[in-house]
Amino acid sequence: MAIYDDNDQNWLKVAQSLRILRRRLRPFVENETEIYHNSLRTKIRNTSSGTTCQTKCNIKKWNPIPKKLPLMCVACVPWRDEILANHSAKEGPIHWNNCTPHLWPSKKWEVAKAYMPRGLKRKCNFDDFDISALLNLMTCCKYFRRFIQEHKLNQVIEVRNSVMHCPDMTFSKEEKEGHLDKIRDLGQALAQHAPDLMKLSEEIEMTPLYLIMVAQGPRLEAAFVPRIDDVSTVGTTFWTLKERTEFLLQCYDEGQLDGLKEAVRGTINCLERNKYYGFDLSKEEEILLWMEEQLIQQEKSAKAQQAARRLFLSYGLIFAVSLLWPRLLSLLAHSA
Ligand SMILES: [Zn+2]
Repeated sequence: MAIYDDNDQNWLKVAQSLRILRRRLRPFVENETEIYHNSLRTKIRNTSSGTTCQTKCNIKKWNPIPKKLPLMCVACVPWRDEILANHSAKEGPIHWNNCTPHLWPSKKWEVAKAYMPRGLKRKCNFDDFDISALLNLMTCCKYFRRFIQEHKLNQVIEVRNSVMHCPDMTFSKEEKEGHLDKIRDLGQALAQHAPDLMKLSEEIEMTPLYLIMVAQGPRLEAAFVPRIDDVSTVGTTFWTLKERTEFLLQCYDEGQLDGLKEAVRGTINCLERNKYYGFDLSKEEEILLWMEEQLIQQEKSAKAQQAARRLFLSYGLIFAVSLLWPRLLSLLAHSA
């Protein structure tokens, strides 16, 4: 039986609101990314020789390093340099390896991915990008500065990180309200350019979270068909658990281990609680259990190393004292 208490519901409400925001951002982001892409295409056509990439430059294995640029052919370099000129995070590592350079002239999302977080090599459509990818695109691509101030985007990136990282997947009422305010604030600030956001607050307010309880054990009642869409309770839970697993795996890969074990356990518990919904997250469960096992092993080996170090120091001390003790006694005898 899946039961949510108030704090679970608060967490789920914030996750649901982020999904509503993502859906309502779509026309604006699709359209403006296209306009930006076209502007680069026109500029590069007018200023460079207009050649096309013959070598199919491949930078998928290139390792992002601050201030370093991947090498590529003469046709791709003008694109790389224009993308860089419009990048607000020139000092930090840019995830060029998200991109396939020879597709830059024809595919807008290949350009957009240079402004997004790592791990998007195989993604190529709006549907593939979560809210974090979209907010990062708008933060890191200077083109979007004309529409929105950076801090309003950063506030919502923080909300999303809290949803992904809070260990027990719960928020207090105050935390929920604070997070929702930031989401509404972004919607309001951007609404004049993205009319779909005008009703964001209303939709957040009106979309209910149903307390779905399946009392018949693991088999769903025939009449109950869960909607795995963007904002239904089941859909929000499903998509957020998927995104959260990817996010935690990324933290693990990058060595951001602080609080990770607790966050992984919280996600596994949530998966357990929601099994009766009937959606398939077995792959995610497998990844989470593997990660938990690795983290437990790492913790054990760190503790064993610490104990060995302590033992070594104690024996060292005893050895030093046993060597110095006779000298100390003879010094005391002489002084007496
Ligand atoms: Zn090339």
